Amino acid sequence: MSHYEKSLSLFERASKVAPGGIYGHMSPAACLPGASPYYAAKADGCRYWDVDGHKYIDFMCGYGPIILGYNHPEVDEAAAKQRELGNCFNHPTERFVELVEKLVSLVDFADWGVLAKNGGDVTTWAIQVAREHTKRKKIIRLKGSYHGVDPWCTPGHGGLIDEDREHIHSFAWNDLKAFQGLVERYKGQIAGLIVSPWHHPVFADSEFGADGFLSGLEKICRENGIVLISDDIRGGFRLNIGGSHAEYGYTPDIVCFCKALGNGYPISAALGAEHLRVAASKVFLTGSYWNSAVPMAAALKTLEIIERDGVIAHLKQTGQRLADGLVKIGEKHGHRIRFSGPPAVPFYRLTEETNFVRQQQWCAEAMKRGAFLHPHHNWFLCAAHTDADIDAALQIADDALAACVETW
Ligand code: PMP
Repeated sequence: MSHYEKSLSLFERASKVAPGGIYGHMSPAACLPGASPYYAAKADGCRYWDVDGHKYIDFMCGYGPIILGYNHPEVDEAAAKQRELGNCFNHPTERFVELVEKLVSLVDFADWGVLAKNGGDVTTWAIQVAREHTKRKKIIRLKGSYHGVDPWCTPGHGGLIDEDREHIHSFAWNDLKAFQGLVERYKGQIAGLIVSPWHHPVFADSEFGADGFLSGLEKICRENGIVLISDDIRGGFRLNIGGSHAEYGYTPDIVCFCKALGNGYPISAALGAEHLRVAASKVFLTGSYWNSAVPMAAALKTLEIIERDGVIAHLKQTGQRLADGLVKIGEKHGHRIRFSGPPAVPFYRLTEETNFVRQQQWCAEAMKRGAFLHPHHNWFLCAAHTDADIDAALQIADDALAACVETW
């Protein structure tokens, strides 16, 4: 009998009624088929339980949304209070105004904001705003970056036509010269550049901008009338309450947030500078649930708690404790574990391999022992991780690596 019997049987049922059973990044095909849970049952703080009843110290936090901990009582209370009044109306509510005001006050360059549901809603909208403002077609992005599943940026292949990417060009992280080259080649045709505050591909180390890279991109954008969009969906509110760009020395024209904003309640936002206000008002944006008030109430409370409780400093401290511990565990077993990216959103990799097979084995062993470690995506820390949780997870990671090393 499999350790994940119920997960497997649910997946079999799902496969009959849903194409692929589970799609996207949560598909077992994209993670550890047969060697990881597929379905969650419940969660609390930094822990969740799968449908087979196994409990995990979680280092994915729902792939990022959970910044304060699952089922945070104050956030849930704020959401419940709003739910009593109602969620989905014919109009936005006062919560909309309060939340946009709050976000505009937090983000240094922002003069306006819009709210949506998912990250891809706002990244796609932002590139439309850039095109509307500049009356140009081309969008530049970084190779290996992720911005959502719309045709201009999806990592998938199905259903695309060549024209979807006709005006999308890319260059490699930290290659400022390559960007300059694109700007010269397509002089006067580039509407926008979309960057993340640091490079966080899957299956590869995270990378910070080299000295002058992000500020250099900004300078070239300003000189050439290119709208600079910061995709802060992965790191937003985990590194700096005003946006991660403030940590890395550049100022975009638009910043996109999602994930951590609502601590699990569905909400995203784009914040922009004054000169784009007219263009922003011309790009139609709406959705059946985009004005839902419950997630806005949750987001207001989430932001309040992040500031009140010093959550960002906590994530940095616990993230660093985890990083130091994992690196030591690697040294102890003679298998170097490389830590990259910010401590609150870290990426880990066993360095002696390039195919992630041992990494997968190690993470599968850790899962069996009660720590959810992802084999090829960056992890996420949350405020509910205490030093004791980190130490418990480190013990599991140590035992898991010891079990693997015996077979290598
Ligand atoms: N940009 C980045 C950097 C992301 O990490 C994600 C989500 N993983 C997105 C955009 C898209 O967000 P969503 O899945 O909510 O549409």
